Amino acid sequence: MGPQDETRVIVAARVRPTSEQEDARGEQGTMYCPDQRHLLVCHGGREKAFSFDVVLGPQSSQQDVFEECGMKKLIDMAIVGFSCTVFAFGQTGSGKTYTITGPHSLFLGSSQEPQMYGLMQRSVSYLLDQTQSMDGDVSLSASYLEIYNEQVRDLLTPWLTSSLSVRGNQTHGFYVENLSTVELGSLEDFMKLLEAGLRSRRTSSQAQNEHSSRSHSILTVSIRAEAANANEGTATQGKLCLVDLAGSERLRGPSSTEDLLEEAANINRSLLSLGKCISALVDPRKKSGHIPYRDSKLTKLLSDSLGGAGITLMIACVSPATANLQETLNTLRFSSRAK
Ligand code: ADP
Ligand code: MG
Repeated sequence: MGPQDETRVIVAARVRPTSEQEDARGEQGTMYCPDQRHLLVCHGGREKAFSFDVVLGPQSSQQDVFEECGMKKLIDMAIVGFSCTVFAFGQTGSGKTYTITGPHSLFLGSSQEPQMYGLMQRSVSYLLDQTQSMDGDVSLSASYLEIYNEQVRDLLTPWLTSSLSVRGNQTHGFYVENLSTVELGSLEDFMKLLEAGLRSRRTSSQAQNEHSSRSHSILTVSIRAEAANANEGTATQGKLCLVDLAGSERLRGPSSTEDLLEEAANINRSLLSLGKCISALVDPRKKSGHIPYRDSKLTKLLSDSLGGAGITLMIACVSPATANLQETLNTLRFSSRAK
């Protein structure tokens, strides 16, 4: 069965548990998961239902997310040459980074417990397991970058302060000039890469607790596989991208300086163009037509994985707290439009 026969875009929703602070404030949960495909949001005495391919409730473990979102299948496809993309979307504090890389605090000083690993570590670990038992030659390499205020930074070379250029065109694909790549031979290699990358993710001085909430980060693992007794030049080149998007909330309040407004406009612009690309891709009438990848660096860099053959998994992360209701509804509306 080829990817043409399957759903191209899978949309999942993950509800995080309430935090200790929210519990202490006596926040009421606003969300119910009646089954594995529906999410009920209660507001103003009414209930609104949203449907998804997968719903992960507050009790779901990191392993549940990996299993139930079908990550093994995505990775198996990337191994045989397809391009698959996973991204986490939602407001700051909704659990995007937790889902993609695991709880951040565990990286500060001590090493992360395997049970808390996010989709990145689980994917690389599964990828290594699968490819190590294959006959033939397989090589894995990774790059890790950040898009902040429409500027691309290599997270693996934080000492280079200048931003990198995005080159190419829609026909031949976009790429980042001079982006560094690292060979992946073991999970330890990857953990080193990840730690270095996370350390160099930008923190806004204006809101230190909103760590890296204003930037998008993209990990790309390239998989080059050559069958054992293949002829010259028959290698396949697959790709797996994991994206931790910037917070989707609107930046508001009189304290916003001009720089921050520009930053917010850029974030909204790239999320908006990502939304447009995805809705064009899932709409059979628009699919063959124009997909507006050019509108932002984020969509340029994701164009070949979103538009090529392969699967895109979108994980809408939401908070169950009443205080976040408006942003939660925005996230759920955005992601259910992708269906
Ligand atoms: P985001 O990246 O969307 O801003 P984070 O991933 O940083 O959000 O999550 C915000 C807080 O909630 C963090 O303290 C994180 O550890 C916690 N958290 C998020 N998701 C979960 C979860 N599924 N289980 C337990 N804690 C979570
Ligand atoms: Mg985050």
